[in-house]
Amino acid sequence: MSQAFYRHLQTELDGIRAAGLYKAERIITTPQGAVVRTTDGREVINLCANNYLGLSSHPKVIEAAHEALRTHGFGLSSVRFICGTQDLHKELEQRIARFVGCEDAILYAAAFDANGGLFEPLLGEQDAIISDALNHASIIDGIRLCKAQRWRYEHNDLADLERCLKEASEKGARFKLVFTDGVFSMDGTIAQLDKIRELCDRYDALLGIDECHASGFLGKTGRGTPEYRGVFGKIDIITGTFGKALGGASGGFTAARREVVELLRQRSRPYLFSNTLAPAIAGASLAVLDLLEGSTELRDKLEANTAWFRQAIQAAGFEIKPGTHPIVPIMVYDAVKAQELSKRILELGIYAVGFFFPVVPKGQARIRVQISAVHEREHLEKAVAAFAQAGRELGLVK
Ligand SMILES: *Cc1c(COP(=O)(O)O)cnc(C)c1O
Repeated sequence: MSQAFYRHLQTELDGIRAAGLYKAERIITTPQGAVVRTTDGREVINLCANNYLGLSSHPKVIEAAHEALRTHGFGLSSVRFICGTQDLHKELEQRIARFVGCEDAILYAAAFDANGGLFEPLLGEQDAIISDALNHASIIDGIRLCKAQRWRYEHNDLADLERCLKEASEKGARFKLVFTDGVFSMDGTIAQLDKIRELCDRYDALLGIDECHASGFLGKTGRGTPEYRGVFGKIDIITGTFGKALGGASGGFTAARREVVELLRQRSRPYLFSNTLAPAIAGASLAVLDLLEGSTELRDKLEANTAWFRQAIQAAGFEIKPGTHPIVPIMVYDAVKAQELSKRILELGIYAVGFFFPVVPKGQARIRVQISAVHEREHLEKAVAAFAQAGRELGLVK
């Protein structure tokens, strides 16, 4: 019996490999940074981390983590409501809430948990959740766990969103919640929050967003997509991560009105039944917010790096998805070519991975580059030169 089970799993694995969908993990032996070393001893320029502001190995962040380890210990061995809440956690909740423009916030072990535990406690059968078709997997899973009726609108399509709002209203939904990624990670598309907010107001709906690829750098002072779109302080629910721009370790949050946060503390299952965020992460995240509230230097450098790279890679003959986000999808279209390009640039010292079906639609294969404030101009110049050489060799550019 059990032998059949393990054979079945091996067949599944072989199928994944045969379909060219197997995800191998590259092993890095250094801290995260502009340049990383892999187990073969080679140093490569890293263009695929979510380390947007370079904070994953920033000296002040590391020092704050050390300090929290010294003063608050390694871990709490408890969920929050038993004995897992320290002053650091309460302070971080206040600070992150203020940073993203909300009244209060609640911490989770990960943004995946923040989204997974968000919908079910707040909405029931009489309610409607209306979500973008390309929302992150954690949002999709969170919505599946909730009894509310579901609508899905075509990605980034306001007319289709309005259709859903109309239908949900006509069906007599008690409460309506529209939920979208602030930034979509495959294309770097920035949600049209100003227009979505208007529509939500017209149909008396709440608006929630996931700011994982925005908090810390999008908008003039890095407050995220609401600041970028001119609706800061006007979003009902914001989820986000400490695992990307805001330090890069792990941890997530949901920020909202006091009543929302208070009910989540009572009912949100990933909060109630999972260990508290490590004190070192809470302490380091506070240092991150000090840095970002004190100066816009890092997000300004990221913005300048992004603008430079977007222009230079196009000048080298590549087509990119237009936009302003540090996620820069370099379009190859063909999945095999995308893998060859990624392999060749790695040989040339540039680490950036290819994405193809089913992660992106068929025929939309690409290399997704992510720019960071930790990149210097020379890193980016080397990257563009490597793309140009590999692209010529593979007949992708002239
Ligand atoms: C990365 C990501 C998450 C998950 O964040 P973690 O803190 O790593 O769990 C959730 N939503 C979006 C949009 C993301 O990009």
